[in-house]
Amino acid sequence: MQTMRAMLLDAPHTSLHLANLPLPAAGPGQVLLKVRACGVCHTDLHILDGELAEPKLPLVLGHQIVGTVVQSGPGAGRFRTGDRVGVPWLGATDGTCRYCLRGQENLCEDPTFTGYHVDGGFAEYSLADERFCFPLPEAYSDVEAAPLLCAGLIGYRTYRLAGDNLETLGIYGFGAAAHIIAQVAKHAGKKVYAFTRPGDAAAQEFALRQGVDWAGDSTQTPPEKLDAALVFAPVGPLVVAALKATHKGGVVVCGGIHMSDIPAFPYSLLWEERVIRSVANLTRKDGEEFLALAPQVPVRTDVKVFPLEQAGEALEQLRNGQFTGAAVVKLE
Ligand SMILES: [Zn+2]
Ligand SMILES: [Zn+2]
Repeated sequence: MQTMRAMLLDAPHTSLHLANLPLPAAGPGQVLLKVRACGVCHTDLHILDGELAEPKLPLVLGHQIVGTVVQSGPGAGRFRTGDRVGVPWLGATDGTCRYCLRGQENLCEDPTFTGYHVDGGFAEYSLADERFCFPLPEAYSDVEAAPLLCAGLIGYRTYRLAGDNLETLGIYGFGAAAHIIAQVAKHAGKKVYAFTRPGDAAAQEFALRQGVDWAGDSTQTPPEKLDAALVFAPVGPLVVAALKATHKGGVVVCGGIHMSDIPAFPYSLLWEERVIRSVANLTRKDGEEFLALAPQVPVRTDVKVFPLEQAGEALEQLRNGQFTGAAVVKLE
């Protein structure tokens, strides 16, 4: 039996460990990918910490997969052997629920999430439903492309849901998604204000290098009011801070899948038509739009590369804010 190396999660609150798993074979509609790189995401940490409660176990995490097609299963003909594709968090949908039928496949009632319901990309090989894979822009190397697939796609959906009619944009939490979306917003002529963990000078310098107009602590008031704010850090009190910083009619969009509780706040902060909303997952349309836009900006991803065996270490460094930009696991 052929095997592959993978970093395996046996149960929440345990460490990833290296394992030899049977090499999977592509089933109907699937492609088998030789993984070249896989991005590391905050959602992986939420799964590791048991905050997302329904993972397949044991599990291979990782949902920003850049891989090469090595096998197409029965009925799969979209890609050729050797094609490079990307696999995002939305691994499949039922295609039949009310949300799928309304063009809201991101809200599907019976979705399959990559690296959660099925094994993901912290492994030498991975299976994917070919309908949910994306061709990737050639301008990006494997490790540069990986963060586009969640930080980029979901960041882009978060940004888009802030609306078109904005001049000043705040970004709370300046990690992988923020560093990509700051570039997109600057390209569109917005003024961008970046908020980091208090005292995180490295993240603030990093934000300024991405072209933002101002960077400060999340406890600070920005020099001018915001038309919209994107909250990427999973920290509920930031929603209130962001509301306080917005103009009348301002929009606060929460981009994460999990967040600590939002504290009670006076209605006056929400009044005057301010809006709080969340973003869930992505649609394939988001992916197609964003992957066409990224090379035009052009978005540059700042990546810290880890070998497969250090996927768990990459997650802990993400938790502790020990690097700027995005972490990516690179396969040999
Ligand atoms: Zn993600
Ligand atoms: Zn559905």
